[in-house]
Amino acid sequence: MFEHRDTRCIHGNLERPEFESTRAVSFPIYQTATFGHVGFGQSSGFDYTRETNPTRGKLEQTMSALEGAVDTCAFSSGMAAVSACIELFSPGQHILCSEDLYGGVIRLFDQISAKNGLTVDYADTGSAHAIEAAITPETACLYIETPSNPMMNVADLRQCRQIADKHGLILIVDNTFLSPYLQNPLELGADLVIHSGSKFIGGHNDTISGFVCSGSPALAERIRLIHKTTGAALSPFDSWLTLRGIKTLGIRMERQQESAVEIARWLREQPGISDVFYVGLEDHPGYTVNASQARGAGAMISFRTDTASTARRVLERTQLITFAESLGGTESLITYPMVQTHPDVPVAVRERLGITETLLRLSVGLENVEDLKADIAQAL
Ligand SMILES: *Cc1c(COP(=O)(O)O)cnc(C)c1O
Repeated sequence: MFEHRDTRCIHGNLERPEFESTRAVSFPIYQTATFGHVGFGQSSGFDYTRETNPTRGKLEQTMSALEGAVDTCAFSSGMAAVSACIELFSPGQHILCSEDLYGGVIRLFDQISAKNGLTVDYADTGSAHAIEAAITPETACLYIETPSNPMMNVADLRQCRQIADKHGLILIVDNTFLSPYLQNPLELGADLVIHSGSKFIGGHNDTISGFVCSGSPALAERIRLIHKTTGAALSPFDSWLTLRGIKTLGIRMERQQESAVEIARWLREQPGISDVFYVGLEDHPGYTVNASQARGAGAMISFRTDTASTARRVLERTQLITFAESLGGTESLITYPMVQTHPDVPVAVRERLGITETLLRLSVGLENVEDLKADIAQAL
């Protein structure tokens, strides 16, 4: 009963803990560092907020209900969530990932994981052949973003599961771009799902958070240990803000996506725009695979302008759309991936992927779609 996603966004798993007897409709913020012991050797179930906190717990349950997870840990950022997953691996092991990943993850792999003895390679994870060719005897993890950032490449998650099974790999999927409202990688065979909650989940460009959703009790236990030990747990207040954001996740995703479809089609017709990358366009190479594994295409669009000066003009002149990093919130944002999100990617790799001086990324927010089009039109 009450299984629909939009209902879960508002009520989570409907379980109200016994200790919360006030019936507060908005789950309370338990702003406390520690909890008194009930008696010698007895605990209320809560001892210290780094480990567990009721407000964070409510948020974690809500995310588990949305992703179909055994357990979810809420972190102080998306990067803290990614870092926690990387703690599963040991020196000498190899991680194979999508080649256009979130720039911060590439920086983590290349500048921190590498020094700690992990090896990382990047492959076109849209191709089973390319994944197979890059697997080595040391490979322990397949790390996927779909659609990817910023090129909107789509990986076939069911196929990734088959490859992971064949080689005994942990399959990790960063589901930030579609959110649990539109895609549930655990149901398609992922072992762990990562989110930056700072994006669609929080949804209001006002807080930073991250999640790891576990698909099995064994992994859930390992991630919990890392979460409470390494200590990047989400604060009670930020947990509450994120819970508040999730309540409208469904309706925001629906509306932002509707506007994104319209803007993607319209952008194609504009002078000065040479390419539009949006997974919801029928001729996008990943359209069919995405439609087979997700319930929508989301609200992220990348596009290419004719020249670098057109790109700069758009960034400088938009008035409603803010030139800023991040995505997924109520305010539309436009980003220059080459400079803002992917400066640490080697130039040769950037060029090959198409992350050049003419590429822009647009996160479509909740403003009226006519106003958004008018803003881009006047900027062009
Ligand atoms: C933003 C983002 C991250 C990092 O999350 P933070 O909350 O900024 O630390 C990871 N993956 C993707 C796809 C992102 O967009």
